[in-house]
Amino acid sequence: MYPAPVQRLVTELGKLPGIGQRTAQRLAFHILRSADEDANGLADAIREVKERITLCEQCFNLADAPLCDICRDERRDATVICVVEEPGDVIPMERTHEYRGRYHVLGGALSPIDGVDPEDLKIAELYRRIEGSEVSEVVLATNPTTTGEATALHIAAGLRERWQDIVVTRLASGLPVGADLEYADEVTLGKALAGRRAL
Ligand SMILES: [Zn+2]
Repeated sequence: MYPAPVQRLVTELGKLPGIGQRTAQRLAFHILRSADEDANGLADAIREVKERITLCEQCFNLADAPLCDICRDERRDATVICVVEEPGDVIPMERTHEYRGRYHVLGGALSPIDGVDPEDLKIAELYRRIEGSEVSEVVLATNPTTTGEATALHIAAGLRERWQDIVVTRLASGLPVGADLEYADEVTLGKALAGRRAL
C-alpha cells in the first residue's frame, strides 16, 4: 500500500514495544516530513548505540568503554553495591542523589516459569566480584514484583551463606507494589533507599 521503503519503516517501527500499527504509521510519516538532519540523526543514533555501547565488564551497566562511568569514578564508594535488574534501573537510583556506591546489574529477575534461572543472571559474577573485595553492604534494589522479591531473597540467601559480615539490605516499602523501579519518582525512591532495612 505504501512504497516499499515506507512500508519497511512502518514495519520496523511497529516492532518497538508499545507501538501499534497506527502509531508506527504516524511515526513513519513524521520521519518522512522531518528535516534530513533530524531523520539522519535518529538513524545515526540507533547505529551508534549498537556499535559503541556494550556492558561494563564489572557491573554490567551500559558502557562505552570496558568499564562504565560509575565503575571508573574513583569517588564512588566501593564498599557498597546496589543490585538492580536492568541498566534502566540505574538512572532512577542516580536521580535520587542518595546513593554514592557502585552497582551490579543482573540482566533480569528470576522467573522459573519463563525459564529464567540463577545462571541466566549475573549472580555468580556478583559473588566473584565481592570475593576478596572491601564490600561491606549489598543493597538489593530489584523491583517490588513477585520475580524481583524472589530474586532478592535468592541473592540474600547466597550472600549469607558465603559472607556473614556483609550487611544485606532491601529498599524500604513505600515503592508501589508490582511497579518497576524505572517508573518510581526520585522522592519515593530516595526515601526507600534511605530507609532500607536489613534482610
Ligand atoms: Zn560498571
